[in-house]
Amino acid sequence: MIFLTGDVHFKNKKLFGDQQFMSVSEAEAAKKYVDIADKYGIKATLFFTGKSLVEEPKTIKDILKFKNIEIGGHTYNAYQPEILYRLFKKFTDSVNGPEWWQERDIKKTITAIRKTTGENIISWRNHAYRYDRYTYNILKKYGIRVVSNDVTTKKRFPEKINNTILSLPINTTPDHEHLYHGEKRYAEGVKESWGPYSKGNFYFIDKWFEVLKGEIESIERDGGFATILAHPSCMEVTDEMETFGKLCDFLSGYKTAFVKEAPLTLPYPLRGED
Ligand SMILES: [Zn+2]
Ligand SMILES: [Zn+2]
Repeated sequence: MIFLTGDVHFKNKKLFGDQQFMSVSEAEAAKKYVDIADKYGIKATLFFTGKSLVEEPKTIKDILKFKNIEIGGHTYNAYQPEILYRLFKKFTDSVNGPEWWQERDIKKTITAIRKTTGENIISWRNHAYRYDRYTYNILKKYGIRVVSNDVTTKKRFPEKINNTILSLPINTTPDHEHLYHGEKRYAEGVKESWGPYSKGNFYFIDKWFEVLKGEIESIERDGGFATILAHPSCMEVTDEMETFGKLCDFLSGYKTAFVKEAPLTLPYPLRGED
């Protein structure tokens, strides 16, 4: 089973560098993305910042005309203003702020999504995968059942975080931190210059696609669950979604599912047991 996912942010070219290279907003790129996926019969889960839904309700309504899309939460405003979160990091025990502050953000995000889509979300990914020891308890309280924050190619299966929440690891190579695109241009002799998660592997898109296909095939052979992170923004910036179309074509040979459909009943290992 395969989960195709991506994150969608509000308009801010400074904060989200990919936007400097896009003629459309991330939400508009998401619409194009869902349209392409739909043509290949592929289900996609996109995690939206609450603010992006408030900014572009019309685009979101257009996206929701497609049946192959699940919307999940991605914090309200991606930890802005930055200075405030820097202070939180320094003076509290959490990068996301005090527990009550984080609860306020989660509640605001879920409410914004409900107001635009009419639905209660059950899937969540933190912006920059940035969760802390309070996050999952708060998410549980607000009805979230599946989270996807853990980037690791070692895990083949989801894990139970507690009796309610399932963690769907991103177990294939994520695009944004490993793909030459936008600001992250190829530079002669520079191998490891981009991002804490890149671990030195950076690819041109053809190579990234090859790596991704290999990872998916390997996970499928093991009977595992593959989670892909391919952002509408990165796919748009890199080659205006040409490779994304190829990816969907490739995925049409497999069973795709929404993150919310990750089965909760299999005997997954509890986090840390494997
Ligand atoms: Zn994000
Ligand atoms: Zn990107």
